Amino acid sequence: MTETQRDPFAAAASFNAGVYGTGLRPVRADRLAEAVRRLLRAAGSEAGEAAVVADHLVEANLRGHDSHGVGMLAMYMPAIAVGLLRPNQHATVIGQSGPFLAVGGGSGYGQVIAREAMDLAIGQARLDGLAVLSLRDSHHIGRVGSYGEQCSEAGLVALAFVNVVTRPAVAPHDGTRPRLGTNPICITVPATQSTPALILDFATSAVAVGKCRVAMGKGQEMAPGLLLDPQGEPTRDPGVMFQDPSGALLPLGGHKGFGLALMCDVLAGALASAMPGTPSHQNSGRVMNNMFAIVFDPARGGNAQWAADLDDLVAYVRDTPTAPGAAAIQMPGEPETLTRRQRLADGIPLDGATLAMLDSLGRERGLEFGDLLG
Ligand code: NAD
Repeated sequence: MTETQRDPFAAAASFNAGVYGTGLRPVRADRLAEAVRRLLRAAGSEAGEAAVVADHLVEANLRGHDSHGVGMLAMYMPAIAVGLLRPNQHATVIGQSGPFLAVGGGSGYGQVIAREAMDLAIGQARLDGLAVLSLRDSHHIGRVGSYGEQCSEAGLVALAFVNVVTRPAVAPHDGTRPRLGTNPICITVPATQSTPALILDFATSAVAVGKCRVAMGKGQEMAPGLLLDPQGEPTRDPGVMFQDPSGALLPLGGHKGFGLALMCDVLAGALASAMPGTPSHQNSGRVMNNMFAIVFDPARGGNAQWAADLDDLVAYVRDTPTAPGAAAIQMPGEPETLTRRQRLADGIPLDGATLAMLDSLGRERGLEFGDLLG
């Protein structure tokens, strides 16, 4: 195994070498999904899996989260080659007690495993009003909001806490070296007649690692206050996250984001999966996600008028005078909806690094994408 294969961040970043600063090219979502499906099929996935993973990745790009879009294939393809990501796995129930559901993923594509696990949780919540899901042993699950949307489309509320088990990226509050993953949290509430579904979905680090990869691809510096270099000094260079020893991301909002990141690892890692972000798990060369999720019927939350009260609350909050330069108060999920609309119309702007990466991964498997990517 080469050094690049052992370090999943470096695997993704290596494709950026030499193509910094190349321009953006708009690619139609349906064509991009077709190219990705072909690539995944060539990498061993059955047709159904290739479609689910391709759609998830392209949807992340459509919603503006390029950090979790098709660029992830740079990490997934080498992981398959060395057996760290296993195509064609399915979610398996490994335990059930009342509303508690434990599901294993066999190191399969997280986009398939987490989707199937969430379907099981939705089925359980429809029966009794509540499901408590512990998902373990899944490869990277991608954009967590996708699973929240699954629940909101089913009319259910979801609270999801995820740990990321790979090389640590985030320094604890007051620390100078990375210890934690970017451990995302997602809270979603279904749409009412007047309010679209609320989809809150973010990493508990000040910024996601993938956003450093995207900035590197574009030859850009990061905003101040997000990163430490390997010596623990503030830096704006996204490349520090792909060096050895690496730099560190700061937690979101100081001690508060650190607390949330830690609790993700406590809930999803220590309690739910026996895979906390400790060195024996972090240094396996894999990128694993475990998830602890509570899914419930909002009508069982204690207020039969919850939808009307939610509408009042959202209307009141929206009706806030805006800061200079801000057009409107947005609710969680709205920026993604707007970006999706725009990118469906105009194409997904892919940078040169990502296009070169897709081309290279395709050629390695005897594929020519031709018109699909341009
Ligand atoms: P982010 O910083 O872009 O924040 C996104 C959230 O903030 C969304 O809920 C969005 O609707 C809301 N938001 C953004 N701008 C807003 C505004 N102006 N007003 C109101 N709300 C606004 O997200 P991020 O932390 O960069 O995370 C990006 C993605 O990365 C997420 O989908 C997350 O699930 C994913 N992620 C996955 C992993 C993993 O291991 N699978 C790890 C980290 C992050």
